[in-house]
Amino acid sequence: MLALAAARLGFRCHVYSPEEDSCAFDVVQASTCAPYEDEAALGRFAGAVDLITYEFENVPADTAAFLAKRKSVLPDPKVLAITQDRLIEKEFISELAVATAPYAAVHSAVQLADAVQMIGLPAVLKTRKLGYDGKGQAKIAKGTDPMAAWRTVQTAPCIMEGFIKFEREVSVVAARGADGKVECFEVIENEHRDHILHISRVPAGVTPSLAAEARRVASKIAKAFDYVGVLAVEMFVVRQGRKHHVLVNEIAPRVHNSGHWTIDGCTVSQFEQHIRCVAGLPLAKPVRLGRRVEMVNLIGAEVKDAARWLSVPGASVHLYNKREIRERRKMGHVTRVWPK
Ligand code: AMP
Repeated sequence: MLALAAARLGFRCHVYSPEEDSCAFDVVQASTCAPYEDEAALGRFAGAVDLITYEFENVPADTAAFLAKRKSVLPDPKVLAITQDRLIEKEFISELAVATAPYAAVHSAVQLADAVQMIGLPAVLKTRKLGYDGKGQAKIAKGTDPMAAWRTVQTAPCIMEGFIKFEREVSVVAARGADGKVECFEVIENEHRDHILHISRVPAGVTPSLAAEARRVASKIAKAFDYVGVLAVEMFVVRQGRKHHVLVNEIAPRVHNSGHWTIDGCTVSQFEQHIRCVAGLPLAKPVRLGRRVEMVNLIGAEVKDAARWLSVPGASVHLYNKREIRERRKMGHVTRVWPK
């Protein structure tokens, strides 16, 4: 989707991916399929392009550093070192005086017991590295054995978070240009199913002041990273007395699934906005096109519904051409725009 947006702006993309069936290969002028550790291939790739960006936060830090010595890599790879580790990420957010769920590091049985004491139950254990879509996570319910929960994630280094009784989940997709100018897309409301994003909706069911707070938080994070590109900040909306607040759950240093609605539902897509940022072009002011817009993920066998979606008025179907249907795998999505 980034490559498609780049092509519209007159750029040619060269995709580097270790995955043999990376769907980006279908829509680019050049491709390299090689491991992230293959320095010869990385060197040739860097030599063939003008500028490098990424849309996957688990590109190994060494790979990003190797490339950054040869060509400009945006967003700066130092962002990866922070967002690849949930503990470092949470500490970074807390230092900005931005609220998160209460958390503690869990690297030993003693720390696990201390964390339960401090945070209380229910709580969630999350592996510090490589967790997504609920993978590498274990809930510790009240009255259950925390050690048993930790074992389900192979007693890997974790953080424990207090289990938040949120009213809703929202995200802000923000773009920051090389000149430091920030443009946020409007606040998005997200509905998860079995820990995987199912539906994103705009407008979100939040007050204008909460929306402003959420956008302020995302802008603050983008500025603190000296970020260039699009990033997403996932947040929980919680109620304290009569007031609502946001707690940051996670930062994604890339275009984000909850921003896919912008392809058909906004004057500029998150993908085009990212390309504008990294190419040093002016950012667009995002304006929603419909009265409301929805994005529905097609997960696993739901991709077989694509033909049905094609006849739904206002719906646009986006398929990723992944070779194999797997349970829990994001195979495509549908955007729905309700005219104003
Ligand atoms: P994550 O991988 O951190 O984005 O978590 C995936 C989903 O699990 C979130 O979107 C929430 O629905 C849920 N979740 C994660 N952390 C917490 C928490 N501390 N309290 C309650 N629900 C959570």
